[in-house]
Amino acid sequence: PLGLREETATLRHVRVNLLAASVDQVVAAFEKEQFELVECRDHSLMAQELPARSRRFMRDPDLDDLLVFPSGTDLHAHPLYTDGTIILQDKASCMPAHVVRPKPGTSALDACAAPGNKTSHMASLMGNKGSVFAFDKSARRLDTLVQLTDRARCRIIRPLCADFLDVDPLNPLYADVECALLDPSCSGSGIVNRLDALVDGFVALVQGQEQHRSNATRLESLAEFQIAVVLHAMRFPSVRRISYSTCSVHVEENEAVVAAILNAQDEFALMPAVDVIPTWPRRGLAHGGLTSEQAACVVRTLPEDGTNGFFVAGFVRKKPADIGEI
Ligand code: SAM
Repeated sequence: PLGLREETATLRHVRVNLLAASVDQVVAAFEKEQFELVECRDHSLMAQELPARSRRFMRDPDLDDLLVFPSGTDLHAHPLYTDGTIILQDKASCMPAHVVRPKPGTSALDACAAPGNKTSHMASLMGNKGSVFAFDKSARRLDTLVQLTDRARCRIIRPLCADFLDVDPLNPLYADVECALLDPSCSGSGIVNRLDALVDGFVALVQGQEQHRSNATRLESLAEFQIAVVLHAMRFPSVRRISYSTCSVHVEENEAVVAAILNAQDEFALMPAVDVIPTWPRRGLAHGGLTSEQAACVVRTLPEDGTNGFFVAGFVRKKPADIGEI
């Protein structure tokens, strides 16, 4: 087995779609339904403070547009979900949009975007002002993205069916793109039990099985693609901030990919820890070519955190004076 497949119950994370309501409005709506808002005293106590089957919930201590409910809370039939006011999205998968933080009125891209939860998250943070180019090479998955982002009331998504590696970074259409969110296909080895994540894991699994390759060779070829995608995003002339994420627990797809990207170019540095979900305690591993200082700048999550296994790193364009520094 490649990774974590056991049935670990993740907490129920609810992202507030800021295009539909404020966090305070959604909190008030749940309180009206006799849900009790409790304080998060410590990350390690969250599961205890939100016992299964209780009607408690809390504001997430790390991401300001996220609420946390006990594991097993089923909100799929809730009117706030069916009308697109809340999005049921694992906390880890909400981190990349917060790492790139696209500002309202700017232009962003999502290179491997479907089914589109992170795309709609960027639009939410941008207040539906600006544009988000959403690429995916699968037309079928891009159709899902269009439906999902429509339901989330996004009006600034520009879906494009393309292999991102073939997209010309110098096309004037992308001249103002400042933020790039890169969440490429991966082994899916961090996925626990969420349907959206399972779909991605299944795609990764099929890709792996098709080739009948050993796990090590498969990880090597995924990493090669992951590195290529990030380096390609760095060629867009105005891109300043990049997030790279996987739902994998493998160093080969995470820290080693980041180290290879840092070695392969001189224009972008690792985003400092203070800009990468700084209150989240679980950081990267000093493996795969990353020093412990670099590892502290990237984020990992594990099922024991109440999320899927996930990895996020940020890159930021260096100021001209810094280029050439060791
Ligand atoms: N970011 C998505 C979300 O949060 O909803 C999940 C992305 S999923 C991990 C990876 C996606 O990358 C798949 O939809 C796959 O079709 C797409 N993909 C794989 N290779 C690609 C390529 N070369 N160019 C564009 N999209 C690609």
